[in-house]
Amino acid sequence: KLFNEVQELKGNIRVYCRVRPFLPGQDGKLTAIDYIGENGEILISNPSKQGKDGYRLFKFNKVFSTHASQAEVFSDIQPLIRSVLDGFNVCIFAYGQTGSGKTYTMSGPGTSREDWGVNYRALNDLFGISLSRKNAFSYEVGVQMPNGLVVPDASLHPVKSTSDVLDLMEIGQSNRAVGSTALNERSSRSHSILTVHVRGLDMKNGSTSRGCLHLIDLAGSERVERSEATGDRLKEAQHINKSLSALGDVIFSLAQKNAHVPYRNSKLTQVLQSSLGGQAKTLMFVQINPDVESYSETISTLKFAERVS
Ligand code: ADP
Ligand code: MG
Repeated sequence: KLFNEVQELKGNIRVYCRVRPFLPGQDGKLTAIDYIGENGEILISNPSKQGKDGYRLFKFNKVFSTHASQAEVFSDIQPLIRSVLDGFNVCIFAYGQTGSGKTYTMSGPGTSREDWGVNYRALNDLFGISLSRKNAFSYEVGVQMPNGLVVPDASLHPVKSTSDVLDLMEIGQSNRAVGSTALNERSSRSHSILTVHVRGLDMKNGSTSRGCLHLIDLAGSERVERSEATGDRLKEAQHINKSLSALGDVIFSLAQKNAHVPYRNSKLTQVLQSSLGGQAKTLMFVQINPDVESYSETISTLKFAERVS
């Protein structure tokens, strides 16, 4: 309820920043994160610049520090996810350079309960709520995991429980590539989308609702010129950059309440058109690395996020 009120004031777009901790073996590295405030502030410092010029302050709806658990992150977005049962369309994106924790946030590092990322928790929560309302409402849930962006071809799987979803996602993962290196390679070069459709029937008055939740682990946002790519690899990188900037343009236009929203500039925004804008709600996780080596990628990630927030 509170969330809805805040949304009405601010438009339907929120931006959360999450900072990945240093990984085992990275202790002793220098950090570029100077300060994280209670109200969504994050101060980044540039090791090569002295004085005031070396600092940049950004402000988002919220910043999760390296200590934030998967459960904490989820509890913050739970109301948004539950609104899908009331017929809202919701898009949740993870944006950031490869290695910044996008997959950690969206899927989690493993399939044990505490590891669960947003996608498993969201499905689990939707099933939990629908069960608790079963005397008044009847819900049908289906999930789609398109390979690439050919959504209409992706089959819709009816699911009845969280374990159905876990099984399905395992199949999805094993279909994607062999070996985790290959999987990482691929995931940094493609957007991965999980779509959850919910149809609700109010048994008292017979009215129905349809809501849709898109959970999107975006391709790595690292800039082309730094990846030293050539040939097909370069084309692919340019294509990714184009689709990410098209996404940025759409969210920016929505945030500005522009009359024209440039949905048609990429496949990604075309596919998500009905779930971006209008009554739909959008949440972007901007993921950043903590180390000074990532300073310039971090700044470009945060600038992207600042523009859409
Ligand atoms: P991306 O999907 O953006 O390329 P990953 O989610 O694969 O990045 O994260 C890179 C590495 O960092 C993985 O080993 C992951 O387990 C770890 N990691 C990311 N975020 C966190 C976090 N919040 N806490 C602990 N480890 C994390
Ligand atoms: Mg990933």
